Formats: sequence, structure tokens, C-alpha cells
Amino acid sequence: MQEMQEGLTALTGQLRKTYATTLHDLATLMRRVHLVAYKIIKRGRGGAVRVRPAFAPALVDLQAMDVESMAETTVSEVAAGIGLWGDWQTLLPRMTARLTDLCERPTAADDLARLQAETRVLRAWLGDMTDSQQLTGICPVCHAPIYQPPAAHSVTCRCGWTSADQHPARLELQRQWSRLHITVTPAGLSDWIRDNLGVQVNRKTCMTWLLRGKLNAVQAGDGCWTIPLAAIARQVQRHASE
Ligand SMILES: [Zn+2]
Repeated sequence: MQEMQEGLTALTGQLRKTYATTLHDLATLMRRVHLVAYKIIKRGRGGAVRVRPAFAPALVDLQAMDVESMAETTVSEVAAGIGLWGDWQTLLPRMTARLTDLCERPTAADDLARLQAETRVLRAWLGDMTDSQQLTGICPVCHAPIYQPPAAHSVTCRCGWTSADQHPARLELQRQWSRLHITVTPAGLSDWIRDNLGVQVNRKTCMTWLLRGKLNAVQAGDGCWTIPLAAIARQVQRHASE
């Protein structure tokens, strides 16, 4: 009896450990896909053959958004099992904090298998991005992504820019992130979608999307809304495939 108990404890410990590693890997991979989606970084060589979307957006990589969105669906379904809701950025750290609850679920092994399958999909899609290297930031001079081993202090970009610490490169990455929103009127949104995604969506439809909360937008006063580009691209893609 005691042996069986010990065996079970070891098994639970193993599940917990694997679950934690999987959540960590997923977070890293999804951050990368997100950066690819915004064309801040490129996919590695050896990734799956690129399928061209029906229309060619200038600012975002819709295929990356799709990959991100599918993985997010799996993450939110598993998270919903322990009563957590939100996007993957919110969910993954909160899931890590609630590992005990996740492991105690009767479906724990299946949930874990689904999450592991997502990490495999993301890894295959991203291709070889040399795992020993981490994205340190973006070069403030040439805007190229800079990858370095985690322990490195000084930063050197291929363009010749150097810095004694990682701060300026991280700051530039932050700056790039903050550019990922636009503040526009519904008419401005219609124009933006036409110019950047090559799709005609009239002002009235834009307004409906905004009012129905389809774009995660925040009112910014004077009839303007601040909208994440990701939400626009997703909604337009959904709209186009209807
Ligand atoms: Zn540079």
C-alpha cells in the first residue's frame, strides 16, 4: 500500500514537472510567434512551407496570427477547466501559479498532452531559431532583432552598434511593441484596413465591430478608439473568410 502511495506521489511529481516545463516552453514559443506576427522578428529556416494568405497585409503576418490564435484556443480551453479566462499572455503565468489545480484535474494528462502538441506545432512552424539564444531586444540603429546568450552583458549588433548593457535594445523592443496599436475613428479604421490589409470594410461595419467589442478597443475620446493591430487583423481575417 505504502509502495503504491509512493509510486503515485512520484507520478504526480513527474506530471507537475512536465506541466511546468510545457507551460514555460509554450510562453517562449508564443512570444516568438507574436513577434513574427508583427514582423518584428523573422521565422527560422526549416519552418513549414509558407502559404500565402488570400490578401497581402503590409504590417502583420496573418499566418503567424492564425498559428498564435489556434494555440491560444487550446490554452484557453485548458485554463477554463480551472476557471481562468483571458488571452494567452494573461493565462500562461496564471496557469503556472495554479499548477496544483491543473494537475489535480481528472483530465490533467490529456490537457498536458494537448499543450505539448501545441508546443510541437509552434516549434515546427517557427523553424530553427537556435534555442540557446534569446531575443535580447531590437537594435536602435538598424532595427534588427538581436539574439544573445542569456548570460551576455554587452550587446553587439551586426550593423556595428554596441552597448555596454542590454537596456537600449530592450527599450527599442518596448517601443516597437507600443507601435502595435492605432488610435482612429471608425472611418479612419476603415481606411487603415483598406491601406494595410487590402480589404474593404465600410465605416458602419467598423463601428459595429467596435461597439460589439470585437476589436478589444478602448475609447480614446473625440470619437477615436485605441485598437490593438492584432485584433483588427484577426477580425478582418474572420470577416474575409465568412
Ligand atoms: Zn543594428
